[in-house]
Amino acid sequence: MKTLQDIYEQSLTVTKEGKVATYIPALAAASSDHFSVSICAKNNKEIQLGDCHATLTLQSVVKVISFMVAANHHSMDEIMKYVDVEPTGDSFNSIVRLESDKKKPFNPMINAGAITIASLLPGESLHDKVKSVTEFLEAILQKQVHINNEVYLSEYHSADYNRAIAYILKANGFLSSDVEDALQVYLQLCSIVVTVSDLAKIALYFATDGNNEYYSEKAKSSLEVIQVAKALMLTCGMYNASGKFAAFVGMPAKSGVSGAIIAVVKNSKIEGLQGPMGIGLYGPSIDSVGNSVAGIHFLTKLSKEYDLFCL
Ligand code: GLU
Repeated sequence: MKTLQDIYEQSLTVTKEGKVATYIPALAAASSDHFSVSICAKNNKEIQLGDCHATLTLQSVVKVISFMVAANHHSMDEIMKYVDVEPTGDSFNSIVRLESDKKKPFNPMINAGAITIASLLPGESLHDKVKSVTEFLEAILQKQVHINNEVYLSEYHSADYNRAIAYILKANGFLSSDVEDALQVYLQLCSIVVTVSDLAKIALYFATDGNNEYYSEKAKSSLEVIQVAKALMLTCGMYNASGKFAAFVGMPAKSGVSGAIIAVVKNSKIEGLQGPMGIGLYGPSIDSVGNSVAGIHFLTKLSKEYDLFCL
């Protein structure tokens, strides 16, 4: 049987097959050969591979959290009036379907859906909406989080595509705030700073269905919302490679263009760890759809070796 270290070392060699995202100028500074993994079980038991002190921004991984905060605040029925839960197979920032017969964004994991969700977050001001998500995260991670202003501003000043999406959403009645407010909330949330261990802890939240004695009240979610979040990760979480990932890796997961991935393990045994587990991965070298190449390689091998397929 291959050890975690074997799989990790093999995955490290794959980093050269991808490229660091450059369309957000501040992300281009990441090291393309970095790869780190954290696997976290209950009671804070954790296995780390690679340099787990490196920090990164959540980017699209935050979409799962914002969705949960908005859905818990309103109700799933209300949210469904604004965003569907259907996969698209299109790229994450595609605008094309907003012009089709069905103008409602297809799901909260693509930019269109996530910008709508940003406008639906609790609170009147931009600050309160951002805080509703950071507070939820802080209750899961048990530490304060902050926004990387350089990444935020770098993306804000080059966000023409997302701005165009927001204007179409607004024109079609799927934005419940101003265009600029929704955009700023969305981009600030994408710029929240985490480590790969934090990613694992976020994944563990889903693996335990939010049941972990150390979570405070602020991390509370209805089970329905957690289940929908996991279904969204399984069907739409890995960009337009979500189908392949579900078919050949078989776990709810969400990735971001910073090279972040969270992956949810229901109940298993991986070396010294047992039970529900969260996996966090950080490999800034990404493939053409936006997924970390080393991360995908690692999870594919890990799932086969440790029988993690959940379906
Ligand atoms: N802030 C990024 C964008 O909107 C997030 C993309 C991603 O990680 O998928 O383009």
